[in-house]
Amino acid sequence: MYFSSISLVGYRVSYFISDSRCHHIFGGKHAIIGACCPNCKLPLIRLLQLDMLDRKIGDNIAIPIQYIPILYCFRCDLIDEPFYYRMNDDSTISIVKYKEQISSRIHTWGYIDESKLPVYYPEVMISLTELSCEEQYLLLASYLSDYIDISFLPELLNISKTYLQKFTNIINHQIGGIPFLPQGWTEFLCPICDKQMKFLASIADEYVDNEHKIVSFTYEDIQVQSAICPDCRVIGVNHINWC
Ligand SMILES: [Zn+2]
Ligand SMILES: [Zn+2]
Repeated sequence: MYFSSISLVGYRVSYFISDSRCHHIFGGKHAIIGACCPNCKLPLIRLLQLDMLDRKIGDNIAIPIQYIPILYCFRCDLIDEPFYYRMNDDSTISIVKYKEQISSRIHTWGYIDESKLPVYYPEVMISLTELSCEEQYLLLASYLSDYIDISFLPELLNISKTYLQKFTNIINHQIGGIPFLPQGWTEFLCPICDKQMKFLASIADEYVDNEHKIVSFTYEDIQVQSAICPDCRVIGVNHINWC
């Protein structure tokens, strides 16, 4: 399987820490023109929004736009296939490809009916923290753990076995680098140029509620994966179930 990422270095997301030079957001209401679900007609859910003023992002994705929003909908058949949209010059988006609703099916996430899901999640300021070489090595090793014995890693990296076991829980959401992909990677093909897209972000099944508690989006331990084609300014979004 081919895989490439927007950057060699990966970043984890920290909630409630703002960076005065840029404005990354998790969740929140938005007024992005064009960001309406073509099936259920509700606003697309903004999971994450990256500020291109942050050189960690802007230097790696050289396109002249202010923000990259990662948008999705958990409430309709759009979840059945990768979803693609284009970011336009004027900060609007145009939906390029999606799975059309073909039935009156109602999906149940965990124990919650999709129609009961929030229309948006509370807005939380976030910052991006660089993953160390050791952490990236651990992520690569976890990806390869079906093929190689990784029991030697704690000694090699001078970390405890407990840390190794808990490590992937630390990485809740990730931008760039080598991601933690316990169920593999979605092969995103740009619907405009047909090329393989680059890993942009992985988003764990969690958000922060108004009482600052961590809550599951769907109660199903999903991972949302996102990729980008910088040439066409297209974002792809898909979710993968963990089990
Ligand atoms: Zn929808
Ligand atoms: Zn493309």
